[in-house]
Amino acid sequence: MSLPLLPGRTCGGCVECCRVIPLDLPELAKPTGQLCAYCVNDAGCSVHEVRPQTCRIWFCLWRAVELSDDWRPDRSGVIVRPDGVEDGVITLYVVRPSDFLGSMDFFATVAGWIAEGVEVALSIPGPVGTYPARAVVTGWLRPAVEDADPADFLARTLRALDRLGEHDFQPDGFETRYAVV
Ligand code: SF4
Ligand code: SF4
Repeated sequence: MSLPLLPGRTCGGCVECCRVIPLDLPELAKPTGQLCAYCVNDAGCSVHEVRPQTCRIWFCLWRAVELSDDWRPDRSGVIVRPDGVEDGVITLYVVRPSDFLGSMDFFATVAGWIAEGVEVALSIPGPVGTYPARAVVTGWLRPAVEDADPADFLARTLRALDRLGEHDFQPDGFETRYAVV
């Protein structure tokens, strides 16, 4: 999915998607959770000019939606996935627990989506080489939204993430392949 990007917004030092998004292409495959070897010194893509089409068109929603700078995935630990948005579902891929989940910024934004009727899903990565876990949590979070209760919202978010951590993570089976030329 390709979204119109916000002008002037760049990934900066973030390389999170080059690590945690499952990637199994003819020219590039790696275990999910392992940083792409083309990402040199965590500084960005060393094959930028010839990178796969998937890498050219995949951007998290932080690149496309007016979210604050604190939402940048390497700062927030949250990748807002673009897939599902057209169907009214926003998936928050929590790649690393952080204090951001307890911020008013996170609460106000996600509560606003739920209040507008958007479905919200939480997702977490499993061990390296496995697919992420994901669950729609709109109904679970809604009471905290309706009560305008950030503390309860955080507690429910953390509880949902704990439950996802109990998931039976399935191997992705991706064989490492670095053949971008
Ligand atoms: S997760 Fe988003 S901000 Fe980070 S590198 Fe990927 S597209 Fe850029
Ligand atoms: S080829 Fe470049 S853009 Fe694609 S995953 Fe690797 S480092 Fe990231």
